[in-house]
Amino acid sequence: MIAAPSTTPILSARAKALKPSLTLAISARAKALREAGKDVCSLSAGEPDFDTPAFIRQAAADALEAGHTRYGPAAGEPALRSAIAAKLCSENQLAISPEQVLVTNGGKQALYNLFQVLLGPGDELLLPSPYWLSYPEMAQLAGASVALIPCSPAQGFRLDPAQLEAAITPASKLLVLNSPGNPTGMVLSRPELEAIAAVLRRHPQVAVVCDEIYEFLLAPGHSHHSLAAVAPDLAERVFTVNGFAKGWAMTGWRVGWLAGPSTVVAAASALQSQSTSNVCSFAQFGALAAINGPRDCVRAMAAKFDERRNLLAEGLTGMDGVKLEPPQGAFYAFPDVSAHGLDSMTFCNRLLDEVGLAVVPGVAFGEDRCIRLSCAANPATLVDGLERLKRFLAAL
Ligand code: PLP
Repeated sequence: MIAAPSTTPILSARAKALKPSLTLAISARAKALREAGKDVCSLSAGEPDFDTPAFIRQAAADALEAGHTRYGPAAGEPALRSAIAAKLCSENQLAISPEQVLVTNGGKQALYNLFQVLLGPGDELLLPSPYWLSYPEMAQLAGASVALIPCSPAQGFRLDPAQLEAAITPASKLLVLNSPGNPTGMVLSRPELEAIAAVLRRHPQVAVVCDEIYEFLLAPGHSHHSLAAVAPDLAERVFTVNGFAKGWAMTGWRVGWLAGPSTVVAAASALQSQSTSNVCSFAQFGALAAINGPRDCVRAMAAKFDERRNLLAEGLTGMDGVKLEPPQGAFYAFPDVSAHGLDSMTFCNRLLDEVGLAVVPGVAFGEDRCIRLSCAANPATLVDGLERLKRFLAAL
């Protein structure tokens, strides 16, 4: 018998629908140009350029030596779940018990698990736009559709409660609030959260996930508020996602959390137990040292980001055909460059080819008028990047 020729398996509809990451595409092009000997400056990174503080690295090394190398509880080390709950109570004024906390592989897995257990076909994710690019993909992986709520540069990217009210339908299941926000740096104030809460009270079927991963990175004069602290009556449908990546410079450690109503967190934990199990055990002990440790290191890095955010914002302000809504937090600037008449992908490709500056096109975040520059780079690199942008604009 002649064996049938082997063929590559056909991808699932789910896999076929996934969009490749534009951020990775730009980084890969920048890397290839650099390897080809071109002088490239990159302001595309989404991660702190600082090392994880030494006491955290030491705690993980100690845990490794002490034999924390085996499977642990899928929901996380009990001591870490307790410490996260205590942090949420003391720093965020949330009434969260350790059972309401799931330790995840970064904030990303917290969001992924939550979307998987809350969303399905027929459900709608309410997503203020611009948005962090993984939210729509994760909603679609759960079979749900995405209802974008456009928050334009002209409105400072701020979610207008009337717009939220108008976007809600019987299918609306989950709203994403990301403050401080990626890519815009927009920070929701307490009165804004109160106004959003007032809308949500009229729509009991809508749950909310607050992505607070940039919590510690705030410009002076801005403070971080958790929705369930501002509106405790909504706590039964508010979820908080956060992690160690940005505040403690621990992107590669992959430790984050989901906190909220216990039945949903238990479902997310069950999903995690059947997919990835516990987060790397010794990394969790590093995270435990971080969260229980003094916040000096977090504050010192946040202060550096503030200086760099200012440097970037001052450099962009006044550039020809560049309109910047000054970022209030996180570590990005998201200027509107549409006056130059190019779509954001063409703008970024030409910027890279013509002056060797890598930044991310706004279309990746749902806003084709803008580009995202990261200030997670040293001041000399930021100055170099700004000069390259100026040169590019002058030649356009
Ligand atoms: N949420 C936002 C808004 C982000 O920008 C990121 C990372 O860039 C994440 C979540 C995921 O963070 P983590 O590295 O903890 O998975």
